Amino acid sequence: MHDESAPNTTWSGGLSDDISRVILSEETIQRRVAELGAQIAADYQGRDLLVVGVLSGSFLFIADLVRQINLPLALDFISVSSYGDRTRSSGVVRMLKDLNQPIAGRDVLLVEDIIDTGLTLSYLIDNLRTRQPASLAVATLLDKKEARVVKIDTAYIGFECPNEFVVGYGLDYAGRYRNLPYIGVLRPEVYAGGDK
Ligand code: 5GP
Repeated sequence: MHDESAPNTTWSGGLSDDISRVILSEETIQRRVAELGAQIAADYQGRDLLVVGVLSGSFLFIADLVRQINLPLALDFISVSSYGDRTRSSGVVRMLKDLNQPIAGRDVLLVEDIIDTGLTLSYLIDNLRTRQPASLAVATLLDKKEARVVKIDTAYIGFECPNEFVVGYGLDYAGRYRNLPYIGVLRPEVYAGGDK
């Protein structure tokens, strides 16, 4: 899934200078998000869809995705921490913000930015299942299959992702780069001296 096209946005602050390779261009992402939205709309026709975004990494994906789902859906957010400033999963998941509403009897679609080890989602799925939704499905923009340590059933996958640390389109490194409109890999110098 290597996308050779150069970023089509000019950054006055030089944000793109820290990116060594663009993996998914803005256009490629938007095209796929539109496809996923149409597929989800078709699958959830006539159902009580509650989209649950996993903050913070999925904020751009959710914003774009829900605008491509032509259904009267409801939206909520949940936030867990699993990474801090590190680039590897610690396996420790902590609930930072819970849902604002009960989900019993509702059709819940959990929206993630990226599934790496799967530990974060596995925790969330177990937690949400105890609340007895009518159904619980997962949509992820990126899937790093190679890094998986627990099995996760994913109904909707945007792209398979190489086993590298990526940033942009919601994904951060040490809190930065979330506002890049595309997904890329950071130059190694950016990590030098940082918390890896
Ligand atoms: P998992 O628990 O599946 O290992 O990790 C899931 C979370 O780790 C994601 O929601 C994301 O916040 C973070 N993560 C995993 N891989 C990457 C990556 O390549 N880049 C960034 N920025 N975050 C990642």
